[in-house]
Amino acid sequence: MISIGENMSVEENITEVLQELGNTKLVCVTKTVDPERINEAIKAGATIIGENRVQEYEEKYASLLPSERHLIGHLQTNKVKKAVQFFDVIQSVDSLKVAQEIDKRAEEAAKVQNIYLQVNIGAEPQKYGFMQNEIEQAIEEIASLNNVRVTGMMCIPPYVPSEQARLYFRKMKGLFDELKASTQEGYDNIDLQDLSMGMSGDYKVAIEEGATIVRIGSAIFGSRK
Ligand SMILES: *Cc1c(COP(=O)(O)O)cnc(C)c1O
Repeated sequence: MISIGENMSVEENITEVLQELGNTKLVCVTKTVDPERINEAIKAGATIIGENRVQEYEEKYASLLPSERHLIGHLQTNKVKKAVQFFDVIQSVDSLKVAQEIDKRAEEAAKVQNIYLQVNIGAEPQKYGFMQNEIEQAIEEIASLNNVRVTGMMCIPPYVPSEQARLYFRKMKGLFDELKASTQEGYDNIDLQDLSMGMSGDYKVAIEEGATIVRIGSAIFGSRK
């Protein structure tokens, strides 16, 4: 996988990735990684960590150094209360129902929860996310929720070689720009700043196509068992 060696340390990998990213933000993806190695990454300069599952995060968080924390995996409604408690950003909001539940739980917690909307940009039946033609309506509905703020969008393109993924990233950037422009006025809680796309295998292409934040796991920690 890319130029980053499996036998390099977490610190070396983080340093190299951060250099390549320049101004693009890094979510250091920590699923299946133990707290000790996550802390190595934070010490080496990772400022945002990303977890897939609320429960896994709950088991680790007490041991973690301070950082910004993002949820990047599918969220079930029965885990929303904890997600609101734990995460600065929930990137994986993939239905109106979950957005409404987040709003409710955030209100109870006297919090305004930052969220991204996940788009199923390849229209894959097995993947989570809003379909492209649903997203405008979803934003109209979410605009009326007082305790969520939409600060970005996220996608996971089909699992294809990175040059083919480029077309999905480009499509996503087009959609992002369109929605950003159309929500510029009259949408107080829609503030589209971040476009989250690109993982270890394709982040360079994602950045070329306009990602502002990438989610990288195995290029930092090595392949997951
Ligand atoms: C696991 C995961 C990543 C990181 O994948 P790598 O290929 O290890 O970089 C990024 N985003 C999501 C949603 C993931 O589940």
